[in-house]
Amino acid sequence: MGKEGELNLKSVFLPFLSTSHIIPLVDMARLFAIHGIDVTIITTPGNATVFQKSVDLDSSRGRSIRTHLVNFPAAQVGLPPGIEAFNVDTPPEMAPRIYMGLAILQPCFEQLFHDLRPDFIVTDMFHPWTVEAAAKLRIPRIMFHCINYLALSAAHAVEKYAPHLAAKSDSDRFVLPGLPDRLEMTRLQLPDWVRSPNQYTELMKTIKESEKKSYGSLYNSFYDLESAYYEHYKVVMGTKSWGIGPVSLWANQEASDKAARGYAKEEDEEEEGWHKWLNTKAESSVLYVSFGSMNRFPYSQLVEIAHALEDSGKDFIWVVRKNNGDEEGEIFLEEFEKRVKESKKGYLIWGWAPQLLILENPAIGGLVTHCGWNTLMESVNAGLPMVTWPLFAEQFYNEKLVVDVLKIGVSVGAKEWRNWNQFGSEVVKREDIGNAIGVMMSEESEELRRRAKTLSDAAKRAIQNGGSSHNNMKELIRELNQIKLSKAQKTTPTP
Ligand code: UDP
Repeated sequence: MGKEGELNLKSVFLPFLSTSHIIPLVDMARLFAIHGIDVTIITTPGNATVFQKSVDLDSSRGRSIRTHLVNFPAAQVGLPPGIEAFNVDTPPEMAPRIYMGLAILQPCFEQLFHDLRPDFIVTDMFHPWTVEAAAKLRIPRIMFHCINYLALSAAHAVEKYAPHLAAKSDSDRFVLPGLPDRLEMTRLQLPDWVRSPNQYTELMKTIKESEKKSYGSLYNSFYDLESAYYEHYKVVMGTKSWGIGPVSLWANQEASDKAARGYAKEEDEEEEGWHKWLNTKAESSVLYVSFGSMNRFPYSQLVEIAHALEDSGKDFIWVVRKNNGDEEGEIFLEEFEKRVKESKKGYLIWGWAPQLLILENPAIGGLVTHCGWNTLMESVNAGLPMVTWPLFAEQFYNEKLVVDVLKIGVSVGAKEWRNWNQFGSEVVKREDIGNAIGVMMSEESEELRRRAKTLSDAAKRAIQNGGSSHNNMKELIRELNQIKLSKAQKTTPTP
């Protein structure tokens, strides 16, 4: 244990109700516990299943960390039991009710902040109200930003200069003004709530305001990855922040940590299956194809992916989800799986894959990714080049970072942003997927690979003693200790 926690700092972490926000924030909470700070994570029972194993592991190692459960008011908002998160199985029409449930829970969370008496709270960006809650308790609120400095800088440029309004058409390219690099986009690649402001636009404004009023923000990023954007964002926002990534690497050092992350299966039969299969493959020869925790493709798109993978001639692991009710599509995928199993060219994982374990396997040579920020950080850490295929949220900005700034990715040329719970109208063709895979896995892409490896080394340095993320963590804990100390001195009567 570090001596940073010598004043017995107590913290409360409040994640959002969605898998890919929970995973990195819980990794951060676990890092604070590693540094000797007392940690309580507040969530609902359904959401706790994503990370409870990791917390139990840490607790068995003697770390001061636990989960505090609060029941989700499903019946009150008319939801069936078990639907209490925004994830791939959440029917789109139920999403507003989850927000309603969250609003009902707000006073309960606030009461817990009061009762648990933390010295500071770390809460997801989607809980902007926690700024006021922390102010009432006179403790710092630290915001967890689920994305990166480049994406936030790009979003800020669009908000401030509205370059998309001057574009001649939806597919006309425009430059994002005022950024450290020349980055171009089209209107169709922007979120719908930017193109046509709605309630979500208001929520994003509230979140930005809450960031300004917070003590500071935590990022799953590291300085050398996007230093120019870190500096840029600091200037435009005037806020404090600490990049302490890659948190997946720092908090999950043991194989048991990596296996426990997310919806790990009880029985490890399937895990052994992919492991055995990968171990028969040559170094850097296998593609890992995954689109995160929230996406589901229509069969028309799955068919294009399947053909692209088969035609590429490369070996692959594909994490895939079925769409119930499409019989033709299901038969196609069953036959596809049978074929690639027989030829030993491919391995399909249905549902949830142990991504950290797979990415660190030496046989993996690159990814096809939807550019979710956690996955990008995990791939950078593993030193892998990527085929980029952004879909929703800030993923089109993330593609700019990977392809144009870091130059470790090849784009499939996705043209249209869509909501995470919609199919959208774009179907990326097998030729476009195949071409991008071909370039990324070719011998000419040696430079791409070299740069990815250099970044991987930088990621590992960042979390070591003296590295930027390590220093940031120490500095933040020092400040929090200082705040606690000066409070104690103010309340201690002088003799
Ligand atoms: N993940 C995983 N197995 C899966 C799908 C996702 O372990 O089958 C993890 C992945 O390692 C990452 C997170 O879930 O940490 C997904 O977050 P990301 O930001 O990449 O995408 P999102 O789920 O938000 O689209």
